[in-house]
Amino acid sequence: MSVLVRGAALLGRQRADLRLVEGRISAVGSLSPQRGEQVLDADGLVALPGLVDLHTHLREPGREDAETVRTGTRAAAAGGFTAVHAMANTEPVADTAGVVEQVWRLGQDAGHCDVHPVGAVTVGLGGTQLAELGAMADSAARVRVFSDDGHCVFDAALMRRALEYVKAFDGVVAQHAQEPRLTSGAQMNEGELSGRLGLVGWPAAAEEAVVARDVLLAAHVRSRVHVCHLSTAGSVEIVRWAKGKGWPVTAEVTPHHLLLTEASAASYDPVFKVNPPLRSEEDVTALREGLADGTIDAVATDHAPHPREAKDCEWAVAAFGMLGLETAVSVVQQVMVEPGLLDWAGVADRMSVRPASIGRISQQGRPLAEGEPASFVLLDPAATRTISAVETHSKSRNTPYAGLTLPGRVVATFLRGRCTHGATA
Ligand SMILES: [Zn+2]
Repeated sequence: MSVLVRGAALLGRQRADLRLVEGRISAVGSLSPQRGEQVLDADGLVALPGLVDLHTHLREPGREDAETVRTGTRAAAAGGFTAVHAMANTEPVADTAGVVEQVWRLGQDAGHCDVHPVGAVTVGLGGTQLAELGAMADSAARVRVFSDDGHCVFDAALMRRALEYVKAFDGVVAQHAQEPRLTSGAQMNEGELSGRLGLVGWPAAAEEAVVARDVLLAAHVRSRVHVCHLSTAGSVEIVRWAKGKGWPVTAEVTPHHLLLTEASAASYDPVFKVNPPLRSEEDVTALREGLADGTIDAVATDHAPHPREAKDCEWAVAAFGMLGLETAVSVVQQVMVEPGLLDWAGVADRMSVRPASIGRISQQGRPLAEGEPASFVLLDPAATRTISAVETHSKSRNTPYAGLTLPGRVVATFLRGRCTHGATA
């Protein structure tokens, strides 16, 4: 049984037909339908390799009221993703081979996209004792990305040891850069607006100090560090400086930090409360430029589902985080493609090729070429849609884009030749 995808613009460039046979792209070019072949008309659509998210919170095990591996990966497929990295801050924490294998198996059973569990750096995210990094790397889940995300690995000696340890299996430590003492009780970006709103400020320096320290450590021990969710112009500068020296540093930015600013906090609507906080216009501009010039390697969603009670409350007590999987590529189209900062090939690089490389996933982020895995997404860039908090595959509703009209629509997602979202004919 084969499928013929007709007339998609590959990476937004030349139009071609793709034939999918047994999970692979068997032919690319001008192809005629074969007898009994399923034909999908992709005229006007852009084909990109399946998107890869470095930063997803699937919440299972432990917080299945917010999300499950099944619902979160279904949302991922709807957003064009064929692989996600599932963050370790579950209950129990993914700090052993047993828990990461459980998450990996749940992902396989659901079948919506590949799930690559992230292993915790420290036991229980406690920040004091290294977790069993080697056992997680050797497990069936083959963990390569380690992070205490939600918490910063603040102890410099422990961070150094983690960086040294993961070298043995070509792993990477993904740091949530947040100086804890400078952000005690912090609620939003520190500046004139936080003063006016009476919310405790979160200074840019609290992020930048940790980013600076970690790029120095990565250079010193020659091991890979990845900076999660860059949010300030200063962080972009530090990463640019470190890359200029050839140091093994990569970084990601979220769609919400590319689009929204601290001004959203003036509504006191906790849907805009996120860690790190939404920043200034100048920061947003620097993040877009950093993503465009490749200083920032990847867009990562930091999809963070929360049940209603964690968000339907006062700002100060609400949980940090927002949904992101189903809207990510639309936000990137709006802020990067439409102003000419990235073309579709650039989007493929930042949302598929480079994240797959950082996570050391060999079968994702591949070219749309003969013999390659048939894992790709078909987008309609001419479509627009008004985002609804209710119409989501996630179990939670905390999207910051409700009511906004965003460009683009994911028409279909294919994982190794199998349609995981949208129609096949
Ligand atoms: Zn984080």
